Amino acid sequence: MHNIRLIPLGARPRDVSFDQLCRDIEMIIPVRITQQDLPSDIDFALDASRKQYHSTELLARLLMTNPEGVHKIVGITPYDLFVPVLTFVFGQAQLNNRAAVFSTFRLHNEFYGLPHSSEQLDSRCLKEALHEIGHTYGLRHCIERPCVMNSSTYVEDIDLKPADFCLTCRAHIQSLF
Ligand SMILES: [Zn+2]
Ligand SMILES: [Zn+2]
Repeated sequence: MHNIRLIPLGARPRDVSFDQLCRDIEMIIPVRITQQDLPSDIDFALDASRKQYHSTELLARLLMTNPEGVHKIVGITPYDLFVPVLTFVFGQAQLNNRAAVFSTFRLHNEFYGLPHSSEQLDSRCLKEALHEIGHTYGLRHCIERPCVMNSSTYVEDIDLKPADFCLTCRAHIQSLF
């Protein structure tokens, strides 16, 4: 059984049910998720002028934690993420490698001036987590079918895709276990 470690970065995102998220991921892919709270000051990744955190630097830091017996490390942060060529990213992962990170900053309805919805927040977190984990298992963006590996530019794109892999992507993941 592959072990995935879920690590809050900077702070624990509010309103997210971590236990539920872990259980939901385990229902979709045959992995065991464990949680770890690190004292995680992530100011090293802050771009003060953008007021955003550089996700690639967070990935590098996650790799350095290197917990024993853990195959993948997934950071989850309440803070907004960016890579230099984009205004923001929902998340980022190393293709076929160990680290992934995603942000809940733009997954809250409140960010868009809409009323809070735990259901939507949980669903978006699950899809983001599955998507980034999928990258760590070597999956690229899937364009053919409804699939959680479709790329998402807007939160509406996340809402439109299913919290599951298409048959092709699922077959790829299952071939690894
Ligand atoms: Zn992606
Ligand atoms: Zn797919």
